[in-house]
Order: sequence, then C-alpha cells, then structure tokens
Amino acid sequence: MRVPSLLRRLSNEFLLFLYPPSCAGCGEPISPAEPLEFCLLCRDSLELVGSPSCPTCGLPLSPEAPESYQCGACLGGLYRFDRARAAGIYRGLLREVVHRFKYQGHISLARPLAQLLLPPARELLALHDLHVVVPVPLHRRRLRDRGFNQAALLARRLGASLDLPVRYTVLRRRRWTEPQIGLSPSWRAENVRGAFAVSEPAAVRDQGVLLVDDVFTTGETVDQCVRALKGAGAQKVAVLTVARTVAL
Ligand SMILES: [Zn+2]
Ligand SMILES: [Zn+2]
Repeated sequence: MRVPSLLRRLSNEFLLFLYPPSCAGCGEPISPAEPLEFCLLCRDSLELVGSPSCPTCGLPLSPEAPESYQCGACLGGLYRFDRARAAGIYRGLLREVVHRFKYQGHISLARPLAQLLLPPARELLALHDLHVVVPVPLHRRRLRDRGFNQAALLARRLGASLDLPVRYTVLRRRRWTEPQIGLSPSWRAENVRGAFAVSEPAAVRDQGVLLVDDVFTTGETVDQCVRALKGAGAQKVAVLTVARTVAL
C-alpha cells in the first residue's frame, strides 16, 4: 500500500472514530457499512415508492393496478416532462427529514437524501439518454434568505455518484413565486407560469436533462422548468425528486 493511500485510510478511520455515522432519521449510531444512512427501523418508516406506480410520472398506484397502467394525469397529457420519479412519498419520516434539510439548515442531510435518489435515477437512466443534471433554481431572494439551494446540493451529490456534469446556472427564476404548498390548485399554475428561463441554451440543446428538485407537489414547478428547457432545445427531460405528495 502506498503511503498517501495508507494516510488517507488512517485519516478516514480517525474521522469515523471522531464522528461515528448516525441514522439520518433518528440519530442512532449505525454501521459504517450501511449502504443507506438510515437505521433499519427508520428505513422501514420511509415510504419509498415501489411498484405498481405510473410508468410516466411515478405516482404510486393501488396494488390492483395492472402493469404499465398510466395515472389519470398522464392519460390526460397533463405533464410536459418525459418521465418523473420520486424516491418516496412526502409524509411521515421522509417529510420530516426533508424539512430538517430544507428549512432548518441541516445541509449534511443532502448526502443520505441523495443516496435515496440513486435507485430512481438509475431507473431513469436506463430508460433515457441523460447527459446533464440540472437543479431547479431558487429565486435569488430565497437563496439569500436560506443560504443554499437544496436542489443544487442534491444535484451535486447525484452528479458525482452518476458521473454526470451538473449545470447549476442553466435555469434561472425570472420572478418571485410563492411556495406551491398551501396554494389553491387554481393559483398554483398561475403562480409559476413562465417563472423560469434558460440562460445557457447551448448547455442543454439536444441533450437529455435530469432535472432535480426536493419535492414534487403537483408537478407545475418542474413542468415550467421543462417548458423552458425544451424551449431551449433539450431533447428529453426526466424529473427526479426526493419525495412526492400523493392525494389522500
Ligand atoms: Zn433511525
Ligand atoms: Zn402518471
């Protein structure tokens, strides 16, 4: 073993000693060998999206739904994206962890949340040629208040894991929008209409784009991004989020 790699290993061991890995859900210690940074109990509480789900937008469907059955929204041609996937359902523990990450500034949670994104990301990559990762941007006022863009932190980790370039400045918010959660359905579409623009069309022209955000609520925010990306010549746009809301 070469000296630098030995040193790196020793420093990794030392860091593990100083900061033993803990569950991103409950904070209990976990084994460094755990592939996901959640203990078994918390992993059981995460409602990860499995099958059956809508092949286009990833909405979880009732267990009786036949294979490749599309949801009503997709049958009605509601979305502009080519496909969307979410790691889990936006409720319970996952919602709590996303809140801690996004609203309480626990940015170290980007790592375990980005790990959850890997299986659905690989599914999207198996279905489409995707070349570049683009995070949904924040308005500069919100970025200044929050201090970070949660989608950009997730995109950075995802790009590194998938070996894909991340384009942080391709999309920009043209104007201020209210948070979609809490708005009435009729206001949601109005709120984000035309809110995004592509500042570097050459970066997405003829490319397959993996668009990353934290939560998919009704799909209007990501769909406005897709509209801008496709208007700039993107060939395909697949949407990946940590969580998505489902109707109760
Ligand atoms: Zn736990
Ligand atoms: Zn669908």
